[in-house]
Parts: sequence; C-alpha cells; structure tokens
Amino acid sequence: MRRMRNVKIVATLGPASNDYEMIRALFEAGADVFRLNMSHGDHEEIRARHEIIRKIEKDTGRPIAILADLQGPKLRCGVFASDEGEDLEEGAKFRLDLDETEGDSTRVQLPHPEIFQALEPGARLLVNDGKIRLKVDECGSDFADCTVMAGGRISNRKGVNVPDVVLPLAALSAKDKRDLEFVCELGVDWIALSFVQRAADVEEARGLIMGRAAVLSKIEKPAAVTAFEDILRASDGIMVARGDLGVELPVQNVPPIQKRLTRLTRAAAKPVIVATQMLESMIESPMPTRAEVSDVATAIYEGADAIMLSAESAAGQYPLEAVKTMDNVAQEVEGDPTYRDIINASRNVQRRTIADGIVAAAREIAESSDVKAICCFTQSGTTAELTARERPQVPIIGLTPLIGTARRLCLSWGVTCYIAGSVNRFKMAVVGAARAARTGGFAGPEDFIVVTAGVPFNVTGTTNILRVAPCDERLIFNTDPE
Ligand code: PGA
Ligand code: MN
Repeated sequence: MRRMRNVKIVATLGPASNDYEMIRALFEAGADVFRLNMSHGDHEEIRARHEIIRKIEKDTGRPIAILADLQGPKLRCGVFASDEGEDLEEGAKFRLDLDETEGDSTRVQLPHPEIFQALEPGARLLVNDGKIRLKVDECGSDFADCTVMAGGRISNRKGVNVPDVVLPLAALSAKDKRDLEFVCELGVDWIALSFVQRAADVEEARGLIMGRAAVLSKIEKPAAVTAFEDILRASDGIMVARGDLGVELPVQNVPPIQKRLTRLTRAAAKPVIVATQMLESMIESPMPTRAEVSDVATAIYEGADAIMLSAESAAGQYPLEAVKTMDNVAQEVEGDPTYRDIINASRNVQRRTIADGIVAAAREIAESSDVKAICCFTQSGTTAELTARERPQVPIIGLTPLIGTARRLCLSWGVTCYIAGSVNRFKMAVVGAARAARTGGFAGPEDFIVVTAGVPFNVTGTTNILRVAPCDERLIFNTDPE
C-alpha cells in the first residue's frame, strides 16, 4: 500500500470514526497519523481507539503514528442563571469576577484568579471563539470591568481567549497531567501541547513525558508566535493551530504566520502540521468548497509535512471523502512542476554537519532519473528528518530497527518506514534497502537507490556514508567495494 504523495495526512478520530472498519478505511484512503483529542472522550474511549489503531497496524504490517492532543489551559467562564445565557449589546458594560454566583446581563464568573493578576486596562477578552469581544476598562485582583466591543450571546462555560497578555498559567492543567500519564502508558508516538506560550512550557511537558513520546507544540497564541524560535528549538514538531490562532489574532494574520512557521520548522528538520478548517464544509457536505481545496493546496505548496482533519473526520458525515479529497489534492499539487520550483526555491539549509552534507548529496544524486528512492538507516529518526528537509524528488525510505522511530516518522514529509532487523555490515544493509525499495513498489531490479547510513551501525547521530546501489542484488554483491 504505497502512498502516491509526500505530504502526510493527520485524521482526528471521534464519534464519526470510532470502529475498526471506519478507522481502517481512513487509513487505506490515506490517513498516516491518527489524532486522539483529549478535550473530548473519556479514557476508555481513547483506549479503545488506540487498540484499534494498533490492531490495524498489525493487520496491515505498516507503522501508524498516534498523536495525543492535550487540552491545555483552556479558559472558560462560569454559569448563568438562565441556561440560554445572556445577549451582550455593543457598548454595554460587563464584569468578570471570581464570584461563583450565577451570572446575569451585568456579570459572570471567570474562575481563573491568575488571569486577573495579569490583566491590564485595554486588554481584550474574546468569548465564544472570538464572537464576543470585551475590552478591560478597570481591573483588580478579583474583577475586570469591561466594555462590550462586539456583542453576542454568552452562555455557560464558553471559552475565553486572552490574546494580549502572557498568562501566568501552568502549561499543563491537572487534567493534562493525568491525560499525559495515561497516553504515555498506552504508548502514543506524539503528544501535542495546546496553548503553549513559551519554551519552558515545552520543557516542562518533556520532563513528564520522559522520552516516551515526541513533543509537538501547537502554535495558537500570539505569545507563541513571538517566542517561536525558542519554542521550535524545544520541540520535536510544530502544529500551526489556525483555529485558536485566528481567534487570538486578526484572521488576516494567520496566512503569513503559517508561511513563516512552515519554512522555519522545515529548516529545523522537524515536521510541521497545518491544521483546522481545511475542509470544514465537508462536515456536512460530500463536496469541499473551491476555497477549501485551494487552502489545502496552499499548505502543500508551502511545503508542510502534514495537513490535518479535525471535525471533518472526527464528527462529520463524510470522514472518508475528506481524507480522499486531501489525497487527491496532494497528488495533483505534487505533480505540478510549479510545486517542484517552489519547494526547491524555499530550501533553506545551512550545512553545518557531515550529516547535512550527506543528505544534500543524496538529494542531488536522486535528481538523476535512474535513482528511484533515498534509503536511510536511522535510529533516532534524525537522518530521515534531515533527508525530508531536503524535500527530494524521490521517496525517502526509512529503515530502522525501532518501531517507535518508524511510527514517529509517519508525520514527516515523504518518509515511508520499514522495520529493518539490526544490521552490522554495510553490504547487508544495502541489500536490505534494495529489497525494501522493490517490495514497497518504489523501484524495479533495473533501478538504482541512494543509501545513507552511519557506520558503525546502531549508534545515534553518525550519518557518514552514502552509496549509490543497483536494486538487483546480484549486482550489489558484484559491485560492492567491500
Ligand atoms: P484544537 O486545536 O482543535 O485542539 O482547538 C487546533 C486549533 O486551535 O486550530
Ligand atoms: Mn486550539
């Protein structure tokens, strides 16, 4: 089951994609990574989905990545006397405070004392996905008096965004910590952190994850955009989380941020996901809008590693059609000569290490039409990620003895992994690579592959060898220097 595209597809699971048949169909249609959203679903549901994915992995013999997305410190208001809530009119005054008493048209609780410490007059509070905008006139340690700048209906436990201040909030709530431990014990490959504000948030989570999963930072706060380079350094991957980002910042700021974050993350040889509302109308319609198709295409032209479905696959009526749409768009874009031009022009690599040089050479050699794949032996996954950064013209085959590495790399542009029994002689490694390329449908016996590896084998961070090899095993034995 060879994918005919390089960009990866992340599909969020939910009520619309709960059973073996549907999840398997999503996988076969093109989903490379499944996202478990910890904001919804209890631990037993999450466990059941996890088990199904691992079963599909076993039944198909292909590694699949599981990404657990922690809810993060999401702020919510308290409750109102009326279940309908209240309509706030533009120009009206409205107070937020710590009083648990049910709210009315003049006030409601905001049960987060830390927020009041950080607020300043002039700061904006955005309620219910930014539909209601409040501006702080005066505030103290337990209240904020606001003017309604944009009115609307506010009701029980609606989300509140505070874009203008770095909040003195712990990166992980008590729920996040419980969820984190739970998914680490289940065995997931990626953990996504919501509402990251600073690199220290990522480091704190990493301390609790203790190497059991890779760490992905969701960029959805202005503070995270400002501190992006530090956050990127602290993270193993990035998500451009356009939903909350477009609430916290003017929506028109999102596309340039998406472009910048995509380029910087690629340059750091880490995977970047473009997420949210990619095919939103497909929640209810089997056909996407032209604008959505164009949005998916844009993310691919920009060189994103992965594109993501949220409610489309988790709660929509057409999860399978949504995955197929992404797959079709990806094949079309990647076949466009303009795509190649853009990808080549946006390659931005400072060659510092031997590994940087080897992967660049591998990519250049693979521009020859006889070469059908770049095969890299990788322990930690770094060599495969460095190769992916090059965005070569041919597929990247990752060969690793570690299933965790193979799964994690499902998120990386162009990488297909196979488990390779541990090899200790380079000639046998080349034979293994040629076999993988042929059985995976990447090359025929008359073709060539480029093989990269670190010798001695099984030591992380030693990419130091490059060999162009024929895919015909007899020729490997005849031509190999050693
Ligand atoms: P969410 O994150 O779906 O967990 O809110 C993505 C986003 O905000 O875009
Ligand atoms: Mn979000």
